[in-house]
Amino acid sequence: MSKKSWGLCKDCKWWQIEPPAAIENLTMGQCIDEELQPYLLRVSGNSGCNRFMSGKPARAKGSSESPPVAEPTR
Ligand code: SF4
Repeated sequence: MSKKSWGLCKDCKWWQIEPPAAIENLTMGQCIDEELQPYLLRVSGNSGCNRFMSGKPARAKGSSESPPVAEPTR
């Protein structure tokens, strides 16, 4: 499998974090990639995958809970 599109959650537009959270390796958030939404993935800033898309994280309250309870904002 190609590693070409692999990237870190902290640099991905599908990462959704709490409104006041800092963009850091250990910050926990929810993956809101459309294909991955059903899995309620909770991922840290230094997690990553090949659905990565460069951008700033979305923000919504409840994104870091276990499991995440925020609605995807994108
Ligand atoms: S798991 Fe993949 S698609 Fe989801 S936020 Fe992280 S890098 Fe982006």
